[in-house]
Amino acid sequence: MPKQKSYISSIKGKNYNKFLKSLKLRGPYIDDIFSSQIDSLTGKVLFTKDALLYQDIILYYFKNPKDFKLTELQNWLIKEKNFEFKIEYQGFKSRTSYSARRHAKEPRINSLFNDLLNLKLIKQTGKAFSEKLKNFEVETYSYTLDGKLLALIIKNYYLIQELKDKKNDTKQQELSKNNEQIYDIIINQIFPIIRNSISYVNFYLKFFELIYKKGYFDKIISYFINILCSNREIIYLMYLLKSIMVYDFVPYNKLDRRIFHDIWKETINSISVEEKNIILFRLKQYIEFKFMDKNIITSNYEKKQFELRSDYEKIVLEGYCNECDQYTILIWSTFDYKKNITYNVDEYDNIKFQCNKCKQIRVIPCFMPRY
Ligand SMILES: [Zn+2]
Repeated sequence: MPKQKSYISSIKGKNYNKFLKSLKLRGPYIDDIFSSQIDSLTGKVLFTKDALLYQDIILYYFKNPKDFKLTELQNWLIKEKNFEFKIEYQGFKSRTSYSARRHAKEPRINSLFNDLLNLKLIKQTGKAFSEKLKNFEVETYSYTLDGKLLALIIKNYYLIQELKDKKNDTKQQELSKNNEQIYDIIINQIFPIIRNSISYVNFYLKFFELIYKKGYFDKIISYFINILCSNREIIYLMYLLKSIMVYDFVPYNKLDRRIFHDIWKETINSISVEEKNIILFRLKQYIEFKFMDKNIITSNYEKKQFELRSDYEKIVLEGYCNECDQYTILIWSTFDYKKNITYNVDEYDNIKFQCNKCKQIRVIPCFMPRY
């Protein structure tokens, strides 16, 4: 059996998604706000024009966090914010009046705005009198909690890009303040909602607190952004938090993975036995399901898995040795599994194990999604 490439390479083509969207067979998804393409001149991966316009619409939150009218947003995008529009109206088109520019760009802005309404990142709040036609009422809008959180995440992304290029104390302070707000929303507004339905939220509250206190919060945000950039058809921002809580939390960057692994271990060793057991049980279910989904398994594997169904501390996996043409069942504790996927993987992110027959170190095909 050949080594499998990491999951990330199997993600569906972005052009295909665009095609489906044009036929109204797909989306909108939150991923669209982060869709990218390779620039033919520089070879760099850049956000698409639509993605940048979506982001600008969300970033209007910092200009106008309360009620706003659609025309106010359109004017801001055209006069101040959107780079694409600015470039378009340079040179001989620079004499085009702002109202003509708005008229030309209105259908596209409104179409993307409606997508954000459908994604519940923006909501309608009421009506207000139009500035031009005094007796004419227009809708007002504001950002939802998810919209606000996404605005803060996008701002974090751009501040980090700027700080990579050049150190700047003011920007650094802005970044800390921004992170504080994201942390506050997650801990004080989103977690209390999930707490009612998921019993082990306490674990993740502690996990987040430790990451924040140790100064690794930027790494969580960049992990969120990597998930958002990976075309997973996300329609609900809560998915980001769930993906950390329900699934295996495996960042693509190996150093980040080690940091998160160590904090994960510190957290799990600090909670009650009951909470710990529930988390181990959920992880067993998820990891074994994911493994079966990504690999061809044998009947021996099925039998072993069934035999150990109630042993929530053990994870059953299976590896293949090319030399012996033989499968080997592996039973690892969740802690060993976590340690192995963090510290003991090859360049293809495959996990190493010992073949039962030849006693050589072989690999388990990779099956984890990582970002
Ligand atoms: Zn072997």
